[in-house]
Amino acid sequence: MIDASVPITQDLLTIPRKMSAGITNLVGLSREELRAALVNAGTTEKQAKMRAGQIWQWIYQKGVREFEQMTNLAKDYRIFLASNFTISIPEIVSKQISVDGTRKYLLRIAGGHEVETVYIPEKDRGTLCISSQVGCTLTCSFCHTGTQKLVRNLTAAEIIGQVMLARDDLGEWPEAGVKNPPNQARLLSNIVLMGMGEPLYNFENVRDAMKIAMDPEGISLSRRRITLSTSGVVPEIARTATEIGCLLAISFHATTDEVRNKLVPINKRWNLEVLLDALREYPKVSNSERITFEYVMLKGVNDTDEDAYRLVELIQGIPAKVNLIPFNPWPGAPYERSSNNRIRAFSEIVYQAGYASPVRKPRGEDIFAACGQLKSATERARKSRKEIIAETGLG
Ligand code: SAH
Ligand code: SF4
Repeated sequence: MIDASVPITQDLLTIPRKMSAGITNLVGLSREELRAALVNAGTTEKQAKMRAGQIWQWIYQKGVREFEQMTNLAKDYRIFLASNFTISIPEIVSKQISVDGTRKYLLRIAGGHEVETVYIPEKDRGTLCISSQVGCTLTCSFCHTGTQKLVRNLTAAEIIGQVMLARDDLGEWPEAGVKNPPNQARLLSNIVLMGMGEPLYNFENVRDAMKIAMDPEGISLSRRRITLSTSGVVPEIARTATEIGCLLAISFHATTDEVRNKLVPINKRWNLEVLLDALREYPKVSNSERITFEYVMLKGVNDTDEDAYRLVELIQGIPAKVNLIPFNPWPGAPYERSSNNRIRAFSEIVYQAGYASPVRKPRGEDIFAACGQLKSATERARKSRKEIIAETGLG
């Protein structure tokens, strides 16, 4: 059943590729778009393919931002490029580093908006949590981003730009003449689309950016090291499998429609049954091993033994792992985190049913960088607590 009161589309301000001075940003273009842009500016068809390949490598394999440094191109051609194009990524406004090593970047993007990106170092790898929108149209009642109105979708350049600027900050572009290390030897070895926004409401830009991240001539991350998290935009789940092919995480969070309608209101549009049908198809179509079911642990709301039993029943037959996320509080949040004992008991039931059930360790809590806490502090278009409660039917 379709509930028209659930906001599922957005009026979006799209940032044009061409900037006012007729300068096109090359970041975020697909290889084909890059080639076409060169031709448009006057490069011959014959030369364009090769030039596009060379420029691509400079930008995504070596991290170069100045055409002047593209030394395998003729000097005149570099001048031509500089007068027609730019290589621009979002600007870092501030960087905070947690006692546990987590880094949170506040970025400024066109229009003066701000988004956050978080880098989480682990023992022999590191995960970058990137944003796909400024704010979010959805209103999950436990999520801080959900209290911020959507301002706009990020462009593909702004999405892949987050990966590029984190590599800048980590010093992870290879020296001249050296190839990128294999995925397993990298500081930034994994990407999760778990920052601000609903990635499947910005499908094309997310897809284009992830294609760039996966391109073997560039950043070259395996599709199995990229995880897209969605609240359950069912029609786009099949497209994610066929057009991106990355791993999928689903913000499940409840085992009955009644509770999920309150926690993840998009459930009123696509309920548990419809969602689970779409998920059953995903691993086959994307040829990926298993789906991650994210489950936020909220005291007295979704954390009983019965919930755990219902959960394993619902996901039966789907290759899955269940990631339990202790609720991360934010000012004015209408929930509390379940106790450690409760989380352990829940995890045990899921585990006994044959599913891995790790409890996600909150990272960067001291800098407010944990899951669901991101929200640009300077953003003025805020919803009041009253509005949130009214929208979700809580209270
Ligand atoms: N919009 C996408 C990506 C979001 S964030 C989505 O909803 O899936 C990544 C995960 O953090 C999601 O599972 C989200 O539900 C969860 N999350 C949001 N707020 C949280 C909070 N305060 N505490 C713990 N997890 C939270
Ligand atoms: Fe948006 Fe995801 Fe937060 Fe829900 S959990 S409000 S979909 S960012």
